[in-house]
Amino acid sequence: MAIKKDISNKVLRERLTPEQYHITQEAGTEPPFTGALLNHKADGIFVCVCCGSELFSSGHKFDSGSGWPSFWLPLAGENVEVRRDSGYGMVRDEVLCAQCGAHLGHVFTDGPQPSGLRYCINSASLDFEQGDIKDGNK
Ligand code: FE
Repeated sequence: MAIKKDISNKVLRERLTPEQYHITQEAGTEPPFTGALLNHKADGIFVCVCCGSELFSSGHKFDSGSGWPSFWLPLAGENVEVRRDSGYGMVRDEVLCAQCGAHLGHVFTDGPQPSGLRYCINSASLDFEQGDIKDGNK
């Protein structure tokens, strides 16, 4: 993976909460139905908590019932990186921030149309910036 931005471990340790650090840097997962952004309905952009890259739009957020914030598209395909993850005895597609390599969550193929995708993302990997809905994929 080509990481464009290398943020020092020390800076991240200082800036992030222990949970945010664990999830983004050690591929952790927050318990379902606990994330601050799960039921977040405001219009705006979800950015990487580590580097601020614009990752998801409220216009693509949907209630998947999974317990994690879910999106049917990333804001721009080039802003996320997908990598095969065979940990924990499962084969899944891991989603990472393309700019800094932060772990975001996983993407599954049981999402709603038109994409059929479900980006299952940890709240702890995201920050929210209120504003107009953007749709980088159209
Ligand atoms: Fe990032």
